[in-house]
Amino acid sequence: MPIRIAIVGYGKIAVDQHVPAIQGNSEYQLVAAVSPRPPQVPPPVPVYESVGAMLQAMPGGVDAIAVCTPPSARHPIVAEALAAGLHVLIEKPPAATLGEVEDMVRRAHAANRTLYAAWHAQHNDGVDDARDRLAGKTVTRFRIEWFEDVRKWHPGQDWIFAPGGFGVFDPGINALSISTSILPMPLFIRQAKLLVPANRQQPIAVSLDFGDNLSADFDFRERPDEHWVIEVDTADGEQLRLSEGGTRLAVNGAEVKVSGIGEYPSIYQHFAKLVAANQVEVDVDPLRIVADAFMAGSHQTTDAFDF
Ligand code: NAP
Repeated sequence: MPIRIAIVGYGKIAVDQHVPAIQGNSEYQLVAAVSPRPPQVPPPVPVYESVGAMLQAMPGGVDAIAVCTPPSARHPIVAEALAAGLHVLIEKPPAATLGEVEDMVRRAHAANRTLYAAWHAQHNDGVDDARDRLAGKTVTRFRIEWFEDVRKWHPGQDWIFAPGGFGVFDPGINALSISTSILPMPLFIRQAKLLVPANRQQPIAVSLDFGDNLSADFDFRERPDEHWVIEVDTADGEQLRLSEGGTRLAVNGAEVKVSGIGEYPSIYQHFAKLVAANQVEVDVDPLRIVADAFMAGSHQTTDAFDF
């Protein structure tokens, strides 16, 4: 019997990744979508205005939901779904605050249902190999550069610069999710600089200093050299470079052959295993670093930004 799943929040990532991953996995059947307004791309399944409306229309007909809304909308959706006995997969970042995530976890345990906070970048092909190579080593230099043009990748997504939208941390948290997964030690914010456009509430560029030659720069502004790179040097002279968001791995300048089934197919494969065991899997580390940067960083105003 396949897992009958509904997608809640039917925007870009739902259409680009979740629908094909669900339809490409025989362990699932896509049965509904939830969207308060008619989605721009019509789903191949019935659409309901809310989780409540869906549950009323399809009693006993849904086993799980995949939550693909912006993060600030998620907590009530997750709470309602768990209370109704559904399993829940959430897109990154899991919620707008650490407190909301903590409460979601508590509710999932109380309901004895799966809650999986997926970090899609951790499912990239180079990540497991990088983690294995770094295990037990001493890191002497660590550097993230995550430079993407917000107009190109998030056209018109005003929510990203609103409270709870994360600004440039929306892609930057992907780099942090890879980093916390591969590094053999924890990362702590020592200093952070957040540049916030004069007409917005969330940062468009961020510099993070983790001390000890460990740093990150995220930039959402238009530039000729978009790239998504993580570099790690170790005390034994190895230089590791993950590029293109974690899909490519090079060691000491030589490309390493990596393989996998791809980010979203891997997420859904893993979610099915968690559902079979009613397990909760929620890693808050990347969100903790972002929260610490907001708390400990200096917030500076920069040029206004419009899409
Ligand atoms: P998006 O295109 O703006 O889609 C979000 C969707 O959620 C919209 O259709 C929106 O509807 C809907 N929505 C908002 N509030 C809702 C609610 N209460 N109930 C049901 N639906 C609701 O954004 P996105 O790019 O798909 O990003 C969504 C999440 O996925 C973000 O957390 C992002 O970090 C993550 N993600 C995005 C990408 C990417 O490449 N875009 C990649 C990986 C992960 P309206 O438009 O009608 O408000």
